[in-house]
Amino acid sequence: MTVVTRFAPSPTGFLHIGSARTALFNYLFARHFGGQFLLRIEDTDRVRSTPEAIEAIISGLKWLGLDWDHDPIFQFERYKRHQEVALEMVAKGHAYYCYATPEELEEMRTLAGIEGRPLRYDGRWRNRSQDEAPEGVKPVVRLKALETGETHLKDLVQGEITVSNTTLDDMVLLRSDGTPTYMLAVVVDDHDMGITHVIRGDDHLTNTFRQIQIYDAMGWERPQFAHIPLIHGPDGAKLSKRHGALGVEAYRDMGFLPEAMCNYLLRLGWSHGDDEIISEKQAIEWFNLDHVGRSPSRFDMAKLLNVNAHYLKEEDNAKLLGLILPFLEKTLGRDLLPFEKDRLLKGMEGLKVRSKTILELQEAAYFYVAPLPFSRDEKAQSVLTEAALILLKDLKTELETSKISWTETPLHENIQAFVEKKELKLKDIAQPLRVALTGSLVSPGLFEVMEILGKEESLRRIEMI
Ligand code: GLU
Repeated sequence: MTVVTRFAPSPTGFLHIGSARTALFNYLFARHFGGQFLLRIEDTDRVRSTPEAIEAIISGLKWLGLDWDHDPIFQFERYKRHQEVALEMVAKGHAYYCYATPEELEEMRTLAGIEGRPLRYDGRWRNRSQDEAPEGVKPVVRLKALETGETHLKDLVQGEITVSNTTLDDMVLLRSDGTPTYMLAVVVDDHDMGITHVIRGDDHLTNTFRQIQIYDAMGWERPQFAHIPLIHGPDGAKLSKRHGALGVEAYRDMGFLPEAMCNYLLRLGWSHGDDEIISEKQAIEWFNLDHVGRSPSRFDMAKLLNVNAHYLKEEDNAKLLGLILPFLEKTLGRDLLPFEKDRLLKGMEGLKVRSKTILELQEAAYFYVAPLPFSRDEKAQSVLTEAALILLKDLKTELETSKISWTETPLHENIQAFVEKKELKLKDIAQPLRVALTGSLVSPGLFEVMEILGKEESLRRIEMI
């Protein structure tokens, strides 16, 4: 059997990270078995579905690298097929026309409220003949749900679950305007698309028991189901905006790398021993549903930052340069020159180990190309005492005349000797020199920066203090 999974978002907002994790699990499961991962846009809610949301989902998936097979399926385009199935169910006696008026339903709702139970359609048209149909009322089509017995589900994450069929109601399959409901559309589409495994959030678990009835009524083989626990915030409450339940593009804009996001989302609810850093290749090799936890996982921003810092360190320097270039060029208001790019590439090694996000990296990198004089904050300014300025001037003269090769070790030795001659310590000049070279008290190693800037530029920066 070829494994076929799908991601079936409703395009009513951004691709939030809980949905991104669902997509990731479906993607990895399919790739692990050499199967297919399909994308279905569930756009049947014509009011809430928007082209912007579709775009956000597609670009979010692309950014994460979760490539799907074939063209996306748009659910709304398939409504004729959904209608056809509903009518087939009516013909087979598994569904029926219901002419209950909105007032009748309202009465049922009131009664349910009084009795303190959820609304349940009372089946009043279940066994009535079409001849009794009131004139001018457009019927809905309802499922003739099982009234006795039990429905069993062997969920690949939640284990065995049994539900008494008395809890199932005659849900609507087609509305009175002929449009299919989500319950019907999702089953018909999963069947027609040959989905073998439905992996989705456990908020859909009760839907599954209702959907199973449609599979059974149509005599279709049920797919396997895996309901994954939702993501909670660090406080244990369901993840909300306040916790960081943002769209994936917000994480991109905060400077996260897609590989880090995928790694973090993978570990959020799935484990492979104690492994924290898992490449995509390993994830495809290892992923299965046996190690999906049964309890909700907690979103932890600090952990995500650490995972991102790891991927940043491993990332190719040229690729990182490409990622920070737009910020630098926007800030400078011009394109970077080749020698500046070269300088940044050389500096990248020292910059990336000190940054957790692309935002931090681009800010940390700016001094390499910033126009002089630097705008310095108070703290940086405070180390430029009169004595420090004299020292820097002397150092400049010393360095100008010295014949050392302008690389880290000789620079270190030379400056060390310079301060010793003055009966000072390296730390007496380190911070003023750092401020002169970078405009800040925090930067990569001083001698590394000097080597990368080169003699002329380093001396110019000291001169311009
Ligand atoms: N469209 C549904 C949602 O976004 C998912 C349906 C499913 O996975 O079966 O919640």
